[in-house]
Order: sequence, then C-alpha cells, then structure tokens
Amino acid sequence: MSKELADLLFPDVKRTPEDMEKLYPKRELSENSKVTRIGPSPTGFVHLGNLYNAIIAERLAHQSEGIFYLRIEDTDNKREVSGAVETIITAMKFYGIQFDEGAVMDGDRGSYGPYRQRQRKDIYHVFAKVLVERGLAYPCFCSEDTLKRIRETQMQDKKDLGYYGSWASCKSLTLDEIKLKLKQGDEYVLRFRADANETYITVKDDIRGSLTMPANRLDFVLLKSDGIPTYHFAHVVDDHLMRTTHVIRGEEWIPSLPMHIQLFDIFGWKEPHYCHTATLMKMDGTSKRKLSKRKDPELALSYYQEEGYLPEALWFYILTILNSNFEEWAKEHQQSSYLDYTLALEKMSNSGALFDIDKLNDISKEMISRMSAEEVYDKWLSWIEKYHKDYAACLQSNKEMTIKALQVGRTADKIRKDLSTWKQTCTFMSMYFDEFFCREDEFDQSISLDDRNTLISLYSKTIDFTDDKNAWFDKVKYITDKLGFAVNIKEYKKNKDHYKGSIVDITNILRIAITGRSNAPDLWEVSMVIGENCVRDRLQKTLNGR
Ligand code: GLU
Repeated sequence: MSKELADLLFPDVKRTPEDMEKLYPKRELSENSKVTRIGPSPTGFVHLGNLYNAIIAERLAHQSEGIFYLRIEDTDNKREVSGAVETIITAMKFYGIQFDEGAVMDGDRGSYGPYRQRQRKDIYHVFAKVLVERGLAYPCFCSEDTLKRIRETQMQDKKDLGYYGSWASCKSLTLDEIKLKLKQGDEYVLRFRADANETYITVKDDIRGSLTMPANRLDFVLLKSDGIPTYHFAHVVDDHLMRTTHVIRGEEWIPSLPMHIQLFDIFGWKEPHYCHTATLMKMDGTSKRKLSKRKDPELALSYYQEEGYLPEALWFYILTILNSNFEEWAKEHQQSSYLDYTLALEKMSNSGALFDIDKLNDISKEMISRMSAEEVYDKWLSWIEKYHKDYAACLQSNKEMTIKALQVGRTADKIRKDLSTWKQTCTFMSMYFDEFFCREDEFDQSISLDDRNTLISLYSKTIDFTDDKNAWFDKVKYITDKLGFAVNIKEYKKNKDHYKGSIVDITNILRIAITGRSNAPDLWEVSMVIGENCVRDRLQKTLNGR
C-alpha cells in the first residue's frame, strides 16, 4: 500500500534522494572546516539574537576556512512581511556579517540553493515521498476542531498532549478511505509515523555537552496542507543537503531535538553538531529575565542603527558575552582586530546570557575615544545624514569647527569618553552649535542668584581671548577669591564655614552657562572652539535669565 499511497500523494515527484545527493554533493573542504548558517524567518523583525547567532556561526565558519550561508526560513507564511528578506540582508550587511552563499537581494548565490525554503518545495517532496513509501509518513485529515477536541480531552485526562498512539486516528486509514477523502478534496497534512518503542535519546551538544531526553513519540507534521514543510522537516532536509556541519540556533529548539534526531536517523544521515545558544537576558531590578519584544526596544536590531551604535561595538560586546576570556585577550591585543580572536564553543555559557546595555555603552565610548576626530566626524555625519538631517547641514557647513570640537579631550594625556552613540553625540555636541544649544543642567540653587550674576559679569569683563590657559585660569581663581569662594579645595573642605563655596562651584556655573551642562570637556578649550562672540552671547543670556 505504501508505494501506491506515495504515488497517489506525490504523482509528480520523479526524482529520488540519490538524485538529490548528486545535485548537492559533499562539499570539498578540509576535514575541520565548518559549514554554518543562519536561518532567520522573514517576519520583519530582526532581533539581537539573530546577530548573536550570526556572529557565532560566521566566526566558526571563517575561523576554519569553512562556509557560512544565509537561508531564509519562510515556511510560515502567516508571519511573513513583505520586504522582510531585504531587511534581514541589509541588517546583516550593516553589522559586517559576510556570507559566502545564500539569499541575496536579487536571488541566490551559491550552488546549494535555492536558499529560500518556499522555493525548495519540490526537494522536500522527494524525501516526503520516500517516507510514505517506507510506511513512515501518512496523510492526516483531522480538522482544527478535531485536534482541539483531542487536546481538550488530553488536558482533562492529564495525558501528554499531541497526536500520537491511539489519538492518531488517521494513521490507520486504509488506502480506500484515503482515496475517498482525496477524491472529496479533503485537506490533509503529512504526518510522521513515530516509533513508539524508543524511550530515550542522547545527543551531544557542542555548547551544553551530552543531553539525554525522552525520544519523540509524536506523529508530528512534516508537510502542512499547502505542501510546505514544517520547521522540523525543512531543517533536517536542508541542513543535510546544504552540508551544514554545525547548527547554531537558540536554546528554544532543544525540546524539538528528538524529532530532528529521529529524522536524521531514519534517512541514515549524519547529524550535524548541535550548538544551542543561551537566550539573551537582562537584569530587571534584581532579577534576570528574557529580553522581551514588548518591553525592551534593545531587542530589535534596528534599535542599534537608529541610536547610532558602532556595529563594531556590538560585535565586541557580543564576543565579550560569548567567551569570558575575550576581554582579557582584547586588552592584551589592542592593536589587533576582534576578528583575530578565536571564538571557542567550549567556552560558551549555557545558561542565560546577560545583555547589559550600559556595558555596551562603555565599549562604545572606549571605541569612539580611540578614533581620530576626523573619523568620528565622518561616521557621525553618515549616521546623521540618515537619521537627523537638519543636524547634517549644520555639520557640513561647520566641518572645520566640528573637527576642532571633536579634538577637545582627544589628546594623548587625558582622553575623554563622552560619546557612546551618534544620537547621544548629537546631544552632547550641541554645545558647539547655537542652533542646537540648550541648557540641559540646572544651576546649583544653593549659590545665590546675586553671586551667580556677579560671577558672570566679572567673568565677562575679565575674560580675554588672547590669554593662554594658565592666564585664563588665574583670572578664574582671582574671581573665585573675590566672591568669597575657596580657591583651594583642601582648604575649603577644612573650613567650609569660611566660604560660600569653592572653585568647583564657580567653574560649574561657568560651564553650565557656556556649555549648557555640568559634564563638559575643558571649559577653556571649548571656549576657544566656539569663539568669543558665542561665549559672550551665552554669558549675556544667562545674565538675562535665559
Ligand atoms: N527559523 C528559525 C528561527 O528563526 C531558525 C532556527 C535555526 O537556525 O535552525 O528561529
């Protein structure tokens, strides 16, 4: 009956698994070369986990002179969004993820394609037909309602959920019954006929070690009613034919492993190395939780582009999460690229990976602080041109001044780490542009308005733009003293009652008046960049209460 049923269900399938093996031969790579892939679904949402897994997969392949490819897993057309494949490709490109093969903007590149699962329907059918022939797959005509009823009864009776054993009524349909249903045009899915005898399976996971789990007992779906495979069937067929050696995917797939192992066994194929990566978590108060699409904007990869993070900072931070000795290595190899580091699966943690955006910001600040002012200008400008167009014009017409501004705090002796993202750079650098200047920090209210105004007037009178930094600071000290504030901080700490405050309060007022913020680079240097008119104008505005 099986042969007849197979021909009945797949009359057009003429090719055999042997034909497929010939079409997609074993890759000519050295023994240790790894073949890896990412298989994102085109849902329109590319998340951090996609990049996280892509970095692992890319590194493993390219560290071993292997192949890394992009496969679009579009079997679930309910979730598909138009333009989503392009979004994936663009996002991966932005992060410098280099594929050797796979889906590209206008089709496919490589000889193991098609690389979009919906285009591989005929290939899956070759293997589905063989399973039917071997009596290992059968059509199931159960409606959604029937399945729902089964589930409800199982729940009530506290039985394992799913289509199996005596619940799997369609597995005993006769050929005539099947023929009749097909003739009536009844819809069906193709189910796997599970072997009820196997009890446990043991799989080696390259990150987690040996995993022992109950064998699969479910007659799970291989092909949906439109003939498109489920993830499980597509994964096994694709990763076999595309000759993937290492499957890097999220730990949410661990529960499905028994199904996958069963299929690999039945086809007599070598299983790939499985590497199930830890879910990304974040601290929420004192407890760890999964990053959530609803609550955490940082889960979307687009967030980092919109905020203007350096793609390199994400790479660097993800490597830090992946291998605990990476940071140490990076310190010792400051002149090397992070791509020179050898990522090791054995060193990866198998419990939730903690993603801390503050840490990413620190890495980003460090990276930007090491760039030349010109490099910062170029990178900032190219982000601004896309995300903050009005600022772009300002940057372009003030290129020289902007570069000078970016030079402040970038000298060898004390490098400042003010800039973390290009969006934050816009805010931070607003002190240099009248168009964007705003007072972000308030004056310290414990200093009287009179004192503040006297200070500003005196400062305006004495300031001389031909002074050097020392002469300028001498004047600040002079004013400090004159207003009854302590010039010497130690002295101030000893005798607080003698003074209205210290030189720190004085410079803080001047800093807020001139730069709009209390955390700003060297005031004298900033003043030299923005120039006399601008400084005087801001002092005057402060006096006028603005
Ligand atoms: N399409 C799957 C997902 O988006 C990919 C899993 C895999 O890499 O095998 O989770």
